[in-house]
Amino acid sequence: MLIDTYGRVATDLRVSLTDRCNLRCTYCMPEEGLQWLAKPDLLTDDEIVRLIGIAVTELGVTEVRFTGGEPLLRPGLVGIVERCAALDPRPRMSLTTNGIGLERTAQALRDAGLDRVNVSLDTLRPEVFQTMTRRKRHGDVLRGLDAARTAGLTPVKVNAVLMPGLNDDEAPDLLAWAVENGYELRFIEQMPLDAQHGWKRDGMITAGDILASLRTRFTLTPRARRSAAPRPPSAGWSTAARPGSASSPRSPARSAAPATAPG
Ligand code: SF4
Repeated sequence: MLIDTYGRVATDLRVSLTDRCNLRCTYCMPEEGLQWLAKPDLLTDDEIVRLIGIAVTELGVTEVRFTGGEPLLRPGLVGIVERCAALDPRPRMSLTTNGIGLERTAQALRDAGLDRVNVSLDTLRPEVFQTMTRRKRHGDVLRGLDAARTAGLTPVKVNAVLMPGLNDDEAPDLLAWAVENGYELRFIEQMPLDAQHGWKRDGMITAGDILASLRTRFTLTPRARRSAAPRPPSAGWSTAARPGSASSPRSPARSAAPATAPG
């Protein structure tokens, strides 16, 4: 088992499959000049499957989350998922993605054994998307989300970061859209990962800000949680209009919600 110095047992394993990405989100990467890892420095598909196998069979890992960079850029992704699905015990598997290319691969990933996806989408406005990601790919993300739902990669979770002056007015619109499409929306605080060194704690959109904005249009009901479970880093809320739901960071002091890794 994986137990930290506080006695907490870790059962989730995040596996970064590539450092590359086809977006350049302003809060994550510089526009140009990135040095990607050389291929010999990356684990091979065989090595990744072997490590996950050890984690699952010997260390008590039950949940594997594939991430990046953008994991859909990893050529062997479907094969890795398929081989991990054949492990005994079989781990639950999810993918954290920007959604570009999901339209093409969602069904193959589902058939290979992927259970669900988290898709990053911060805005419903294509021009704001282009400003935030430096790419014109908004339509690709929406189509990827649609394909994930059709393929049964559910619950489809959407991760959104609100940035001051860019999309901080969009929380209610994002939730209305998520409710309409049956997606589970998660607001994630911006992390100090930014290559441009623009992160400031007092410039963050906080959990309180998000909840106040959502409550202008929605009634939010805290979700019950299992009392024995450790306190999670985020709080879950249901809206009156199910099946949509939202989660927000639990407190402004935290920089992490369950799916904080970008991508
Ligand atoms: S936040 Fe995600 S999608 Fe955006 S550049 Fe970083 S890895 Fe890519």
